[in-house]
Amino acid sequence: ELLQEVEQSDQDDSRTGMLALLPSLKIMGVLCVFVLLFWLIWKIEKKFWEDQDNSDEESCSREEEQEQEEQQEQEAEEQEEKEVKVQDEQNDSESFGPNEDLKELGDSLLYLVNILIDIAQNVVLDTFFPVPERSFVVGSTYEGWGLPVGETVFRFLVSLKPPRGHIFHLELGTTRELPIRNSRIRVELKCTCGQEQDLKMLCFLHTSADELRNQQPSLLDTLCSGPYLDVEKTARWFGAVLKNAWKCVPLSAACRLNAVHFKRSCRFQLTPMIQRTFLIDVMFGVQQGNTDIFLSSQESEAAYTPSTAWPQTCAVAEAKFFKHVAARAGEDSFHLGCLKVCAYILVGYNFSPYELKTVLMHLLTAIPVECWSQSYFVQRMEDILHYLRCCVEEKRLDHFLIGNKAVPAEIILPWEFRVSVPPNLFQRVARDPDRHEQALYETEMLRDRFKTLLTSGK
Ligand SMILES: [Zn+2]
Repeated sequence: ELLQEVEQSDQDDSRTGMLALLPSLKIMGVLCVFVLLFWLIWKIEKKFWEDQDNSDEESCSREEEQEQEEQQEQEAEEQEEKEVKVQDEQNDSESFGPNEDLKELGDSLLYLVNILIDIAQNVVLDTFFPVPERSFVVGSTYEGWGLPVGETVFRFLVSLKPPRGHIFHLELGTTRELPIRNSRIRVELKCTCGQEQDLKMLCFLHTSADELRNQQPSLLDTLCSGPYLDVEKTARWFGAVLKNAWKCVPLSAACRLNAVHFKRSCRFQLTPMIQRTFLIDVMFGVQQGNTDIFLSSQESEAAYTPSTAWPQTCAVAEAKFFKHVAARAGEDSFHLGCLKVCAYILVGYNFSPYELKTVLMHLLTAIPVECWSQSYFVQRMEDILHYLRCCVEEKRLDHFLIGNKAVPAEIILPWEFRVSVPPNLFQRVARDPDRHEQALYETEMLRDRFKTLLTSGK
């Protein structure tokens, strides 16, 4: 008995010891979060101060630069034409390199968005709202080929999971054309009888309405239109959740975050201490199985998109493809620089940056990665423009991710993406002879435009 008592008291001691440790563990945890957040503030502030310093230095040394430029001009005149051309080509390609600063800033913002999502997860814990999970940074700003037109927009896609007691059924729409634009997310209730303790909820299906009055409403009664999850209601709710989460972040003392009204996503304007703002666009979506394809809140091209439509988006799969290429290519790989040049020379023409991005993705799987370094810049640009010309002549540009055996296996695609005939991104050209003529003419103009860029630098 004595032994048992001693053992018992030992156990009690260790328990109370652990309990006594708990508050200090919590404090340690909170301290860690604060240290991380202040590191983040420092990163963002540093980036902006650097920008300002650079612009100050630029203005100080303008006179010197002018003198240097004059000297250079004189020297250049003495050189042979060929040499000048080569030098210009190098200068041009350097100025069009991917913007590493934006990538670093994008990484910091992804970190911030993930902190907001961690807080949001705790907020929705006792409710029946969707559960935000992983977030992905997508789009041209982060990839470093977006042009600085207007404000800088960083795009994120947050994956939503159904709350306990609910199931998401993805209804992929009736059209055969991929990616499917009119897909919907049907919300169903799931029997949770016998799991009351574990899930801390009453079964929505088999509990009387009277008893359910004491429980929070189901997702069907909050963010749905009929049985379908409503994008616009979800956007308003998620925007409010993120805005509240922001108030818990110490960074909110140093920066302002304003919600911008946007129907199908949560858009925020982040203004750090230094007056330069940029936009954070948070889309959300439901992952299709275990694939890299999401049904998302992304705006579709159609003039009218119903609030229950969740178009399939390839943004995450494409971001993963570029990561795959970056992991294999050398540090001096210039494929994104090529895309930036494409986006630059496209201004004023009917081809979209996405069409050129598609051309680039096809070529990235056809030409070995080591042949994309800066020294091959002109050849690769000529390849891109030649490929575009051939596509216009054939009136056909295949979607990169659909029906394409060259897509790396690590990009996980739904079965129908692998086996379908690729949709034609040049349908408008195929249907309309006038547009075809125009597109042929524009491919010639683009070649001239690129030559002008090489020789004049503009
Ligand atoms: Zn039940």
